[in-house]
Amino acid sequence: MSTPFPASVYAARLDRARALTAEAGLDAIIVGAGPDLTYLVGVEGDTIERLTALVIPAEGAPTMVVPRMELAKVRDTAVGSLGLAVSDWVDGEDPYALVTAATGSVSRFGVSDALPALHVVPLTERLGARPELATPVLRESRMIKDAAEIAELRRAGDAIDAVHRRVPGLLRAGRTEREVAADIATAIIEEGHRTVEFVIVASGPNGADPHHEVSDRVIERGDIVVVDIGGAVPSGYNSDSTRTYAVGEPDPEAARRIAVLVRAQQAAVDAVRPGVTAEQVDAAARDVLAAEGLAEAFLHRTGHGIGVTTHEEPYIAPGNDLPLREGMAFSIEPGIYFPGSWGARIEDIVVVTADGCVNLDTTPHELTVVAAAD
Ligand code: ZN
Ligand code: ZN
Ligand code: ZN
Repeated sequence: MSTPFPASVYAARLDRARALTAEAGLDAIIVGAGPDLTYLVGVEGDTIERLTALVIPAEGAPTMVVPRMELAKVRDTAVGSLGLAVSDWVDGEDPYALVTAATGSVSRFGVSDALPALHVVPLTERLGARPELATPVLRESRMIKDAAEIAELRRAGDAIDAVHRRVPGLLRAGRTEREVAADIATAIIEEGHRTVEFVIVASGPNGADPHHEVSDRVIERGDIVVVDIGGAVPSGYNSDSTRTYAVGEPDPEAARRIAVLVRAQQAAVDAVRPGVTAEQVDAAARDVLAAEGLAEAFLHRTGHGIGVTTHEEPYIAPGNDLPLREGMAFSIEPGIYFPGSWGARIEDIVVVTADGCVNLDTTPHELTVVAAAD
């Protein structure tokens, strides 16, 4: 069996999704290929034009609708180990009839947010009801990580920390961002990830753009360099960690501002505990920066949830009054950006515990000064 968790874990997730579907007043939800399907039964990948979907009725057993050419792969997941009903189809047959057979008649139904419009529109016609987003039902389950998931996030955190410990040996004046990023990508795999999800090496003025990835810019002595990296470990759970480096001795004013950023990031980590809202955690970081005149330099939210995807709920952002609960996992990543000049960001993944949080990324937060030349 090629799922990362025992069948009982998926059985519990399916039971919970069914209970929440009923609680939401929906007759069924239809979960297309994508992260929700990976979470619920361990089926990976996303198909667009051929319908793959798990139908979960509020009452009764789920049914997996799958193209026959995917059948062997799907049977090798919790779909097989739990003995779920499977309706397979071949090109030229009508997959929507299989879905409606599995739902029975519905007056309200939900669709996962990754189900393509290509399938939602014909399903809506067949079912004769208006689709609703199943997001609230699935979000509730996916936001609260169980012990097995937290163990995988911890594995991912350890792996990315090992990569950050290698960065001082890779960053040098005279190398391009792209050369450094290629070495980091290799290290991400060597340290235990199965995929590289992203590698940001943003040096000097490029660091002022939070979405800069890599370029052929040659790194110079005195540059501040933002290194934001992540990958998925074999179970599919993700890492995401940012550290800021200086190549040779940094400008003292830059170093001073980065020390403020480190305090802001720590203030947000310290604010995390059950019952505190997402926006309160965001404000904890923002307030430290504002007190030092750096409010305008912080251009984005403080964090995002993480699990089988790199960006998911809960979002740690202004206006999100969601109370935190034990088991939620998310990033804390304030940054400061000075267009045309430089930028900095510090990011850890934390998991909410009964009375605070654990930090899964343990390399030093402070500006790490690396040798400008060998
Ligand atoms: Zn990141
Ligand atoms: Zn992040
Ligand atoms: Zn991001």
